[in-house]
Amino acid sequence: MTSAASPVYDLLVIGGGINGAGIARDAAGRGMSVLLAEQDDLAAATSSWSTKLIHGGLRYLEYYEFRLVTEALHEREALLANAPHIIEPLAFVLPHEAHLRPAWMIRLGLFLYDHLGGRMTLPKSFGVKLAGSRWGAGLQPRFKRGFVYADARVDDARLVVVNALDARAKGADIRVHTRVVGARRDGGLWRVALQTSGGERTEVAAKAIVNASGPWVKHVQDSVSAAPGREKVRHVKGSHIVVPRVHPEEHAYILQNADKRIGFVIPFEEHYSLIGTTDVPVDEYERPAISDAEIDYLLELVNSYLERPLTRADVVWSFSGVRPLHDDGSSDPAAVTRDYVFKVDALEGEPGAGRAPVLSIFGGKITTYRKLAEAALAVLAPYFPGMRPAWTRNAPLPGGDLPNRDRNALIALLCRRYPDLPAELLRGLARRHGTRALHVLGDAKTMADLGRDFGAGLTAREIDYLIAEEWARTADDVLWRRTKCGLPMTPIERETVAAYCSDAVQRASAS
Ligand SMILES: Cc1cc2nc3c(=O)[nH]c(=O)nc-3n(C[C@H](O)[C@H](O)[C@H](O)COP(=O)(O)OP(=O)(O)OC[C@H]3O[C@@H](n4cnc5c(N)ncnc54)[C@H](O)[C@@H]3O)c2cc1C
Repeated sequence: MTSAASPVYDLLVIGGGINGAGIARDAAGRGMSVLLAEQDDLAAATSSWSTKLIHGGLRYLEYYEFRLVTEALHEREALLANAPHIIEPLAFVLPHEAHLRPAWMIRLGLFLYDHLGGRMTLPKSFGVKLAGSRWGAGLQPRFKRGFVYADARVDDARLVVVNALDARAKGADIRVHTRVVGARRDGGLWRVALQTSGGERTEVAAKAIVNASGPWVKHVQDSVSAAPGREKVRHVKGSHIVVPRVHPEEHAYILQNADKRIGFVIPFEEHYSLIGTTDVPVDEYERPAISDAEIDYLLELVNSYLERPLTRADVVWSFSGVRPLHDDGSSDPAAVTRDYVFKVDALEGEPGAGRAPVLSIFGGKITTYRKLAEAALAVLAPYFPGMRPAWTRNAPLPGGDLPNRDRNALIALLCRRYPDLPAELLRGLARRHGTRALHVLGDAKTMADLGRDFGAGLTAREIDYLIAEEWARTADDVLWRRTKCGLPMTPIERETVAAYCSDAVQRASAS
């Protein structure tokens, strides 16, 4: 293999979503020289628009997706261990609706869910009384019984960033705002044209390409392969709304709808609930936005459960993503497989180097990204005879090396070390950065040392860190992806952050 300094990369990864970042990290850790090109910000697309669950996917059992559920449950354990700062266990309450799914069916599903993943650290499922108990908080009193099971939630955009951080620490070249605009084979190599958002064009060479461009996968595949691939992608839009917290407890609800779909109500940040999602087929990929009909659908679903009905006036934020699903011919968008599919195109020839493969990734889940990365590298291994073995299963992600996986222990340590900083601010930093919060804070002692205070727990010190270390450039990068500080801020506060980011980026590029 070539060294990291070589002008010929072993691997060029197209796309800085979770799959691209995960593959770049895994490959760099195996000694490969890697370039990741992302046309926008890291996690600018699907990977920051998810329901933010690290889950086996209870509902996929109804579609007999046992392979996917089993793999996802195994991965849930691995990710809880390796990124406990941004991934945490979450209890889900399923209110019982006998006319939608009988109790025996739910019990069978939960039994499988408890056991398919093998040994698990999360508690097993159990039945509960809802009326008059904390498990029924916020629900109409007509719901008497329910079931509780465990899953996990994730800060999806930060999961991408920490993978990119680790990839860079292992030598990968991560380029944001850099679009792959063309690629052609030249002998046994790829010549790939890159264009920055400023219009600057360069060409790099790579021995292999991974097309992890999510909703653009088919477009990119067709533009780099000799013949258009036969694979079809189904684009299915899913939207979420954010409202003020609907109950004070820490659990989420999984709600059954009369159309057999399910919805989630998930505690989000400190003071909000996240409600989703929809399944709306869309023809082509375009920047998705929630429609009025989707808002009404989500409100109607939750209002059939909640004691205090929500209205459109309660919606403080919304976001939509497009699932690029591999078309398996299902007529129902909710039933299209969520499993991933790989397609490889390579030059004919003997096993070994020089066949310029391109691997395109269709579908997938955030939950299974690490396993997907391992599987992708297993597919590429024959083209890289020196590739080192898989290594990420027990490797903490940056900031995830918490003592006993315990974020509260880290918060207590931060409070001891920084007694003059507000505990709320330290909590926010620990949730975003894990042990790297120490790096963000450095030798600061007081709020004055952290520079300007933008509110919502965001300071100039943290923005500077996000720009210097985490590829942030704009207010959106800072307020909606590296943090969610944009949520409680007023439009004027957000504009102040935008002005600061623009100055800080200019300062950083001038120095
Ligand atoms: C509504 C919804 C809810 C979901 N909920 C969950 C959930 O709770 N749990 C879960 O596990 N999964 C969930 N998923 C699935 C999960 O979000 C996706 O599987 C995952 O984010 C896909 O990641 P990706 O890296 O393949 O794609 P993306 O995140 O879309 O990344 C692709 C990247 O490629 C870049 N790109 C495209 N073309 C080019 C080019 N020519 N040059 C350079 N860069 C390029 C794009 O800018 C983009 O950033 C959900 C998906 C949706 C839509």
